[in-house]
Order: sequence, then structure tokens, then C-alpha cells
Amino acid sequence: MSNFSDALKKVSKAGKLLEEDVSILESPQRVIGVSFPTSIGGQTRVISGYRVQYNNARGPFKGGIRFHHSVDLDEVKTLALLMAVKCAVVNVPFGGGKGGVVIDPRGLSSGDLEGVSRGFIRELKDVVGEKKDVPAPDVYTSPQVMAWMLDEYEKITGKHAPGVITGKPLELGGSEGRSYATALGGFFVLDFFRKFLKEKRFSVAVQGFGNAGSHVARILWENGHKVVAVSDSKGGVYDVNGLNVPSIIEAKNDKGSVQSFKSKNISNDDLLGLKVDVLVLSAMENTVHKGNVSNVKSRIVLELANGPITSDADSVLEKQGITVIPDVLANAGGVAVSYFEWVQNLQGFYWSEDEVNQKLKVLMDNASQSIIKTKAEFDTSFRIAAFVLGVKKILDAEKLRGRI
Ligand code: GLU
Repeated sequence: MSNFSDALKKVSKAGKLLEEDVSILESPQRVIGVSFPTSIGGQTRVISGYRVQYNNARGPFKGGIRFHHSVDLDEVKTLALLMAVKCAVVNVPFGGGKGGVVIDPRGLSSGDLEGVSRGFIRELKDVVGEKKDVPAPDVYTSPQVMAWMLDEYEKITGKHAPGVITGKPLELGGSEGRSYATALGGFFVLDFFRKFLKEKRFSVAVQGFGNAGSHVARILWENGHKVVAVSDSKGGVYDVNGLNVPSIIEAKNDKGSVQSFKSKNISNDDLLGLKVDVLVLSAMENTVHKGNVSNVKSRIVLELANGPITSDADSVLEKQGITVIPDVLANAGGVAVSYFEWVQNLQGFYWSEDEVNQKLKVLMDNASQSIIKTKAEFDTSFRIAAFVLGVKKILDAEKLRGRI
């Protein structure tokens, strides 16, 4: 079964609970497929990519662009739908979209990466815009990639338009706090649940040590939680008494892997099986699946990546009584601060880091509160509660516009 049909099942469950017709959300409003030639290692190669504009009833399409060799349309459609739900859940005035380019950017020269970035946005020049569709970074794209895309777009249109893309470097209109916003948002959500559960301190294992994973490990450590294990694609490190996260970040920056930090080495599967309070999933999609879900021993799972648990694994976790805090809430801090960045760009007036982080906390606390309330009201999982909340907001907007 494809990820997209799995995601649609959640929409349909939400529709049933709401007693609403959700057919408008069963397919994206627009799918754009492009291919363009670019130079890779001195040779011309034709690269393909997609932009899926899922729904814009609540505001401009919004969502990141990923560069990954396994990108396909099913994945981009799924992620675009998740973005529509996510923006509604945290109540930012955006719809949902997503982009993907089929390329492995690791090992590309900076010049070739720039060529791919400029080439892709050139293909999308007519469909993106400050008030139309606002891309951002995602897996293997960075503020530098956003800077090249912004520059290319502005060159074509002949005017400054910093709000056409978010996750930019600060020098080009990026927002304070955006670089670690996904992690901080996830932390605020977890902290809200911690207080709700009346708990003090968590033991935590973090799978994935990219932007989201490394920052969340650091933030949890700074806030007195015990981070006992972290891992990247090469494997992990473990210490029952807690790891010194800043030293691991240093080791990873110096030598490229968390295992270069001196501590007991473990595999990614070992990390999933640790008996901790919280397992943070911040790697890629589908990392917890039917084959390894029975290993999971944590009480809570925080989905910092998009779609890290397959739907059959999700049902197993639910049956076992493991609380899953779903991606559309847990990782919404990224798009929330993208929204703040966009607001600052449109008004041309910029906020301090403290101001951004305080505003983020308010958004994440409100969304967490609403999901806890919706879960109780509909007697369902947190994931379906999030879909109920998000789908309802999108349908309300669609009705007011007279589209349904
Ligand atoms: N790529 C991030 C996400 O999946 C951020 C999207 C954005 O800021 O638009 O939520």
C-alpha cells in the first residue's frame, strides 16, 4: 500500500468522526512535474522533480523542497497533504504543498548543487510566489539552497520578494530561530505533554542526528532531561547515565558521525529497543515498520520527522498503549517559524530571537492543548485527533469560500 493511500485513510477516519464529506481532500489541487538539464560533474544530466500544491483554502500553499534520490510523486503528495493538515493544526494561515527533486545531493560540488537549485525554481517560477506558494527547506536542502532559489526567482521577476521562500539565511531575510525551530517546537510539545502527565524528567533516545535530531537532543539536555542514546545513519552511542550532548555535536561536526564520540556503540535497531520514557524519531519516513515495531519499548514516541512510522506499525504501537505524538503536531515548529519569517518579510520589520521563540511557544502550546482536548472528545489517538482538528479547519475554509 502506498504512503499516500495510508494518509488518505487518516483523512477519511477524521471525516467519519466529523460526519463530513472529505472528498475535496482526496486529491491535490495541482501536481506539477518538471524535468530540466543541469551540469553534474561536468556532464549534462536531466533531473526531474515535483511540486504538489495540495490545498490552499486557508492560505498560500506552503511546504519544503527535498533533494533525495528516492523522491517520487506518491511521497511528495503524501507530504503535501501532511503540510495542509499541519498548517491547520498549528493555525498558521497557509495551505499545504511540497516539492521534491530526484537527486542525491551528497557529494555534489557546490556549483552543481547551485545549478540544481536554480534550475528547479526556474521551472516553478510561474506557480510559486509570496502570496501563491511558499517553499522552504526539507530533507537535504539548506538555507544556502533557499538563497540560490530566492536569487534566481528575483532575477526572473525583477524585484525583491523575500517572502517567496522561507528558511533563508538571516542576511537575506531569514528569521532568528528558524534553524532550530522544528526541534524547539517539538520540545515545547513534549514539555506540554510532560506537564499534562505530571512528570518531571524524561529519559530519551533520539534516532537521527540531522538538523531536527541534533537540536532536539541539545535542547532536551539543556533542560535537564537524560539523553541516553542518539544515532545517525551510521549507528548510535549509548550511556545509561546520560550522554554529554554538546560533546557529541562537536564529535559529529569534526568526524561526521556520532559514533566518533567515545561511548558504547549501538545500532539503530538497538536504539529503537531501549527502555526509555521518550523515543524521538528524527530521521526519515518509515523508519519504524512492521519488521521492527515490536522492539519499541518507550512509553512515548515523538515524531520529529515526517511520517517516520508506517501505518501498520502505528496500529501496533496504539494497541500496546504507547503514546505517539504525531508529526503534524510534533514537527510543526518548523513551518510555524517559517510563517513568522514570512510575516517579517512582508512587513519588512524583524523580530528578536526571544520574540520568535516566545511566539512559537504560544502556537505550540495552543495546538497541543487543542489536540489533547480533541482526543478526549472523539476518544481516538493523538494522530487521528490532529487530523480531525486539521481537516475540520480546512473544510470550514472550503465551505466559506463556497468551493464545497
Ligand atoms: N520542511 C518542513 C516541514 O516538513 C518545513 C516546511 C516549511 O517551513 O514550509 O514541516
